[in-house]
Amino acid sequence: MGTQTQTQSTTLLVIGGGPGGYVAAIRAAQLGIATTLVEGEALGGTCLNVGCIPSKALIHAAEEFHKVRHYAASGAAGSALGIHVSTPRLDLAQTVRWKDGIVKRLTGGVAALLKKHGVTVLRGWARIVDGKSVEVRSADAAAAPVRIACEHLLLATGSEAVALPTLPFGGMVVDATEALSPASLPQRLVVVGAGYIGLELGTVYRKLGAEVAVVEALDRALPAYDEELTKPVVAALRKLGVQLHLGCTVQGMNAAGDAVSVRDAQGRQTELAADRVLVAVGRRPRSAGWGLESLHLDMNGRALRIDDQCRTSMRKVWAIGDLTGEPMLAHRAMAQGEMVAEIIAGKTRHFAPAAVPAVCFTDPEIVVVGHTPASAAQAGLDAIDAHFPFAANGRAMTLEGGEGFVRVVARRDNHLVVGWQAVGRAVSELSTAFSHSIEMGARLEDAAGTIHAHPTLGEAVQEAALRALGHALHV
Ligand code: FAD
Ligand code: NAD
Repeated sequence: MGTQTQTQSTTLLVIGGGPGGYVAAIRAAQLGIATTLVEGEALGGTCLNVGCIPSKALIHAAEEFHKVRHYAASGAAGSALGIHVSTPRLDLAQTVRWKDGIVKRLTGGVAALLKKHGVTVLRGWARIVDGKSVEVRSADAAAAPVRIACEHLLLATGSEAVALPTLPFGGMVVDATEALSPASLPQRLVVVGAGYIGLELGTVYRKLGAEVAVVEALDRALPAYDEELTKPVVAALRKLGVQLHLGCTVQGMNAAGDAVSVRDAQGRQTELAADRVLVAVGRRPRSAGWGLESLHLDMNGRALRIDDQCRTSMRKVWAIGDLTGEPMLAHRAMAQGEMVAEIIAGKTRHFAPAAVPAVCFTDPEIVVVGHTPASAAQAGLDAIDAHFPFAANGRAMTLEGGEGFVRVVARRDNHLVVGWQAVGRAVSELSTAFSHSIEMGARLEDAAGTIHAHPTLGEAVQEAALRALGHALHV
């Protein structure tokens, strides 16, 4: 039982094995940089273990169950599609096992990739000693801590859920992590926060059969997106039977502990019955509790301030991902991680994407890439925009997805596309075409003049561009 600190050294030390940290480590190792990655919990970070992937797995499972229940509820007459189903049943434990299986495959894949590329992975919690060294303690208290000296230190510790003082986590008040591994289905779920997590997971629970009420402080659901895009989502939530309490603040649990007390903008108090409460009011950078303060780096609130190469205010100390603030998205963290590895290897790189796509996996889904009409106007661009409705798209009809639209935003003078948005069934996959078009500097004529396969949702992309040029064919 030795407690003497061992010392190791490396060129690049990455703290955090989420999408930012593990991508940086893989790319650095590919470029021949001796790399050590420290992870306290699980490789893959929030994204693979308790974020993007498990939430999308449950969204799919809930959608499938909801579909079958809908067919069953159509009774003897059958659904419009002619499908007859009798009494579907949900084995929630199996659903969670299936989701866990996907997580395990992906996190196992990350471990294998790190190994294949020769990255040294240390399991344990890192604590900053100074800008060039870190101490790592494993969960085994008896094990000796390891000190690692490095030339470059990359901070990628991610973010954590924000707690509400009036509804602290514990017991029936859960965060997204717990909500992604339910042992049972609540009868009545109250969700606090109508943002990404609140609406993605609120929809899951509703489709699995729980009664769901969502409380949002602002007067709109998904307030980060423009109202035209969120309208079809709000309509679908209401149709699904999700209650929305907008412009409301939560006061806490009632005395009996079986309802959430809520106050609306007029000061009226209501109680929303609940046997589980999901608090999803945002995430904050994980910048405290591991000695980061001792480096006295420039901060942006709780986020680390970085420049366009992800350098912090200390030489050879870099930061990426959620730790550096908004937008807290996995693909941004990965892109930053890849770039930092290349800069350390001597390449000239800057983080200057033409756009960082954002997708909300509600039903229908929302995609935003680049400027909206409002943000273009704010940026002083003289822009035109045009919509193409999925109601006029054959493929959308065959998917029972006639709601929603594609919108394009382009400069009036030279038709350079500066933004694409869409709301509708399965539009997350259009984000690829949107990002390519903006990153490659496409003009309306490029999108309009490209042959799009028929019948696909993508035809709405071409048609939106044609419409902006004044000659849409199918509307
Ligand atoms: P993280 O993934 O948080 O990884 C940080 C890692 O660092 C963790 O594994 C942590 O254990 C480790 N760590 C922290 N401190 C230490 C320390 N001192 N020592 C050692 N290890 C440490 N984003 C999307 O783009 N699309 C989505 O669909 C999406 N869905 C989401 C759904 C949910 C429910 C949640 C919660 C988030 C979702 N996100 C989504 C956000 C996404 O998960 C994050 O943006 C992404 O994981 C950030 O990556 P990161 O590498 O910066 O940090
Ligand atoms: P969010 O910022 O998306 O939404 C939080 C919501 O809670 C906002 O609408 C906010 O107005 C509301 N709110 C804040 N305080 C409140 C209060 N006291 N009472 C009621 N409402 C309150 O945050 P989130 O849903 O927790 O997600 C965290 C982050 O995780 C996101 O910002 C995003 O970066 C990431 N994420 C992304 C995806 C995706 O890309 N599809 C999915 C899930 C999470």
